[in-house]
Amino acid sequence: MDAGNPTLSRIPSVDEVLKTPAAQEAVVRFGRPRVVEAIRHATAAAREALAAGKTVAASVEALAGDARAWLEADARPNARPVFNLTGTVLHTNLGRAIVAEAAVEAATLAMREAIALEFDLAQGKRGERDNLVRSLLCELTGAEDATVVNNNAAAVLLALNTLAKGKEAIVSRGELIEIGGAFRMPEIMARAGTKLVEVGTTNRTHEKDYATAINPKTGLILKVHTSNYRIEGFTKSVSGKAIAALAHASDVPLLNDLGSGTLVDLAQYGLTHEQTVSEAVAEGADLVTFSGDKLLGGPQAGFIVGRKDLVARLNRNPMKRALRVDKIRLAAIEATLRLYRDPDRLAERLPTLRMMARPVADIEAAAQRLLPAVATAVGSGFAASVIACTSQIGSGSLPAEVIQSAGIALRPAGARSSGRALTALADGFRTLERPVIGRVENDAFVLDLRCLEDEAAFVRNLATLRIGGRR
Ligand SMILES: *Cc1c(COP(=O)(O)O)cnc(C)c1O
Repeated sequence: MDAGNPTLSRIPSVDEVLKTPAAQEAVVRFGRPRVVEAIRHATAAAREALAAGKTVAASVEALAGDARAWLEADARPNARPVFNLTGTVLHTNLGRAIVAEAAVEAATLAMREAIALEFDLAQGKRGERDNLVRSLLCELTGAEDATVVNNNAAAVLLALNTLAKGKEAIVSRGELIEIGGAFRMPEIMARAGTKLVEVGTTNRTHEKDYATAINPKTGLILKVHTSNYRIEGFTKSVSGKAIAALAHASDVPLLNDLGSGTLVDLAQYGLTHEQTVSEAVAEGADLVTFSGDKLLGGPQAGFIVGRKDLVARLNRNPMKRALRVDKIRLAAIEATLRLYRDPDRLAERLPTLRMMARPVADIEAAAQRLLPAVATAVGSGFAASVIACTSQIGSGSLPAEVIQSAGIALRPAGARSSGRALTALADGFRTLERPVIGRVENDAFVLDLRCLEDEAAFVRNLATLRIGGRR
């Protein structure tokens, strides 16, 4: 045995470690039970290492230090921020839209204080929570009325269940989509209690397909934005306007599930025009559903706007109560929607739009600025270079659209086992104090800088980068 190594019996007891000033300080911060558990971990690890014949620093101070490190790591919130350098602006797995500062402030206030959530301040009597955002939604979409639920999946479920439970819902075969995270249109329809009536074919659906499917059992016609894919080539679909005319001739409502649902013309920001909610309302949809945390750039929510009589029916459905939104999100939604009243400053204030519209020259300049710091942090094992790359909007928004972007590519310097080196590199970035999420592409680990706004924090964070256990 190593002369400096203690024997198993010489490993300090939990009580001995607990008496050190470092442990006592930890008790103040983390509470006694957590500290005792941490010291147990540390002493057990020391014992194990010793039994395995390893050299162990097992002084009370060293063990208190180990316990402290364990506590620090354990105390990091699970919901801590990451750097989204994937190049996908609305990344569902990274929480989609980052909300505007105004929304953060409004949500914070709503958490901290009582608010008139379901209380009519003018009348001094009970009110409706939707009234916090109803008139804003109507103003921004041109709809007669509006309601809010937990997310767009809930919006579709509620609309189908309210208008077509026990009835038929007509959908084009080209629109029977699956959105990531197990939202499949046919399954939602089944859960809503509606009978799916498919019309047309995958690539072509005609007006007469809808017309012949309408019968007295029809509850509604559903039009779905094919968010995450595009049918190209020999295709035909029926315009919303034409479907609305058909539906109304038979006194059947048209529900248009827009998915993303932007409130502004994206073409003015150099992106492809996407049908806006107002346009969908104007072309005759009786109800339009869309998400809060996609192109709209707010918190998770689902909106249903449209005819007053239909919205009133939605609100009377007991399901609405189960799908409703809490005061924190309602406050954030209201603040987000208010930003849309000042279109000139929207791109500056709404992070989603700011990031989508960020000029590529600006991103490239950031890449040039950050290259030296990144190169130093990864060391000589990787070659770092500024590259042109492409970002995407994400979350099924403008799926066919790639936006020119720039980033930093890191390639293993040695030719051998580059796959393993890339995995180790990605692991290293992911286990930083603030995890950095990039993407592996063409044998390189790529950091797309479109969504990086706090460069100083990014550089500070790099100081603790470890690749494959080495500094
Ligand atoms: C994203 C999407 C949904 C689901 O919306 P969530 O807000 O994620 O629940 C439904 N329909 C379409 C067309 C979508 O793009």
